[in-house]
Amino acid sequence: MALIEASSPHTMNTYGRVPIALSHGQGVRVWDVNGKRYLDALAGIAVNTLGHNHPKLVPALQDQVARIIHSSNYYHVPNQEKLAAKLVELSGLSNVFFCSTGLEANEAALKLARKFGHDKGIARPEIVVYEKAFHGRSIATLSATGNPKVQKGFEPLLEGFIRVPLNDVESLKRATEGNPNVVAVFFETIQGEGGINPMRIEYLQQVRQLCDQRDWLLMIDEVQCGMGRTGKWFAHQWAGIKPDVMPLAKGLGSGVPIGAVVAGPRAANIFQPGNHGTTFGGNPLAMRAGVETIRIVEEDGLLDNAARVGSHLKGALVRELGGLKSVREIRGQGLMLGIELDRPCGVLTNRAAEAGLLISVTADSVIRLVPPLILTEAEADEIVALLAPLVTAFLRE
Ligand SMILES: *Cc1c(COP(=O)(O)O)cnc(C)c1O
Repeated sequence: MALIEASSPHTMNTYGRVPIALSHGQGVRVWDVNGKRYLDALAGIAVNTLGHNHPKLVPALQDQVARIIHSSNYYHVPNQEKLAAKLVELSGLSNVFFCSTGLEANEAALKLARKFGHDKGIARPEIVVYEKAFHGRSIATLSATGNPKVQKGFEPLLEGFIRVPLNDVESLKRATEGNPNVVAVFFETIQGEGGINPMRIEYLQQVRQLCDQRDWLLMIDEVQCGMGRTGKWFAHQWAGIKPDVMPLAKGLGSGVPIGAVVAGPRAANIFQPGNHGTTFGGNPLAMRAGVETIRIVEEDGLLDNAARVGSHLKGALVRELGGLKSVREIRGQGLMLGIELDRPCGVLTNRAAEAGLLISVTADSVIRLVPPLILTEAEADEIVALLAPLVTAFLRE
C-alpha cells in the first residue's frame, strides 16, 4: 500500500492537511490513492456543487478544453456575456466582473466601494466589516477579515475598516454615527469560516434600509453561501433584499476556479476602462464551467434538493446530537450546516476521514457540513450515521 508523505519537502508549509490524497470521485463519493472510499460532505469547501464526475458537466468541459482553454480579455469571450446575463437574471442585479477566486471577487468589491466614495468626493472612504468575518487572504481581504489568526504577522493592516458585531443594528448605527466617510457595509449572509453564523432576516432588511438612507453600498459576500447552497441562488434572497455588490466564487464553477462580482445599478458603472482587470478572469474554460453548472442546477432541481435534503440532514443531526449537553447549537440553512460543540474539535476532521467521511472544522469548535447539492436523503442519513458516533465518543473523552 502506498504511503502518503506526512511532509511535502517542496511545497510551502501552508496547510494542516488530512494525511490522504484523493484520486477520483463519483457523485458524493471519492476514493483516495490507496483505494479507500469516502462520503464527501465537504465538497472541496463548498466548491463541488455537482459532486464529482457529473455526467452532464464532464462532457461539456471536455468539449471546451478541446476548443479553447484561455484567450485573454484582449478579446471578447462569448460565454462571459452568457454567464453574466444568467447571473443578472438570477440576482436581479445588472452587471458582472469575472475573476478567478473568492479573494479576488472581494478585492474588486472593496475597490468598487472605495471608488464609489472617491467619485462622490470622499477622499478616505471607510467600509463597515464584521466580527468573525472571512473574506480572503490578500492584504486587503485579510484586513476586512475578522479573525486575528488570519491577520497576525501581516501587519500593518489596511486602514479604512470599521468593525461591528453581527445582527446588532444599534451597534452598526453607533459605530458609524456622524461619520461622513462611510461608503459601504460588507458581510457574508452566512459566515462560513467564522463558524456558520447566519445574519438574521430582519437584520438584513434593516441594513438594506440603512444603506438606502445613508447612500452606502450594501456588499454581500456570497462566495461560500451562494450558488444554491441554502436552497435559494443567493442566501440573502431569503430576506427578500438585493445587495449593491455581490462577490461569488466557490460553487460557481463546480470545481473550476472562477470568481465574479455582480453589481446592481448603483455600483455597475463605477469601474471604467483601466480601473480593474485580470489575466485569467473570465477565461473560456471557467465561463463554460459557470454556464453549465447553473444550467445543470436548474435542470436537475438542485435548489429544491438543497433545501429539502438540507432540512432532512439538519433534522437528523438534531435528533442524534441535539440532546447532548456539549452540543451548543446546530445551525445553518440548506446544505450549509454547522454543529457547534463546547470545545475545540479539530481532531474530528482526521477521525471522520478514517471513518470514511470528509468534513471540516471551522472556528475551532464548529463541525462544518457543505456537501455537494446533489446529496440524497439516504446519503444525508449516511453522513449522520458516520458522524454521530464520532462526536458522541469525542465528547465522552
Ligand atoms: C473561501 C472564501 C473566500 C476566499 O476565497 P478564495 O477563493 O479562497 O480566495 C472569501 N469569502 C468567503 C465567504 C469564503 O468562504
